[in-house]
Amino acid sequence: MVRVGPAGSGGLGNLEGVRKVARMGLDCMEVEFTYGVRMNVDDARTVGALAQEKGIVLSAHAPYYINLASDEKDKVLASKKRLIDSCERAHALGARCVVFHAGFYQKRTKGQTYDLVKKAILEIQDVIKIRKWKVQLCPEITGKPSQFGSVSELTRLMQDSGCGITVDFAHLYARQQGKIDYAKLLKKLPKKFHAHFSGIEYGEKGEKKHVVTKKIFFEPLAKQLIKRKLDVTLINESPQPFKDAAMMKKVLDKLRSS
Ligand SMILES: [Zn+2]
Repeated sequence: MVRVGPAGSGGLGNLEGVRKVARMGLDCMEVEFTYGVRMNVDDARTVGALAQEKGIVLSAHAPYYINLASDEKDKVLASKKRLIDSCERAHALGARCVVFHAGFYQKRTKGQTYDLVKKAILEIQDVIKIRKWKVQLCPEITGKPSQFGSVSELTRLMQDSGCGITVDFAHLYARQQGKIDYAKLLKKLPKKFHAHFSGIEYGEKGEKKHVVTKKIFFEPLAKQLIKRKLDVTLINESPQPFKDAAMMKKVLDKLRSS
């Protein structure tokens, strides 16, 4: 099954956002803590209860300002705290998947960065276990070659730590300078995963910004998702995420019935 929905509530607030997702016949929504974890746990429970009542699957996006591989100890500690705060809210929301960008290589080698990210993830997973939160850390495929988060790094991290993955197909497209082979990519991924999609502008340094999703840009992915019978929650991150999620849902429905 492919579930489709928007990143965030489009400024409506999360309760109204969930209602709109349900009204539009969409399936999921990502609650955004991208500029800070400002929601309290009680509010998260209220949003979670509404989503459950409406049958909407929630996920959570942790703050952008995270670097688990920073040279500065304080920054790593602050990053871990932001992730743990996000996990606590996600648990209250009933959101399993906690999305985040794990970090930057800066002056380190890829191997050193990998080891630091893995260590931090294992430590946060210990906290999740102790608190009995039903959440999974899902580091995201990032849009810039300077950022940790290639497909091979993240699939290895899944195996080594038991974390999940957020497959941002648009980021990968930008990271690979406009080249993406969905059939080849999906063979490397599990049958069930969390994902992002949108149009994207990119340059030599990778991702510039998420833009409106063109149908023709989504169709090749949609075909592969249906063909492979994958179990995916697909969040649209364009500047008009509700409208574009509805378009993607329509494309998928059409492929399924043809
Ligand atoms: Zn994304």
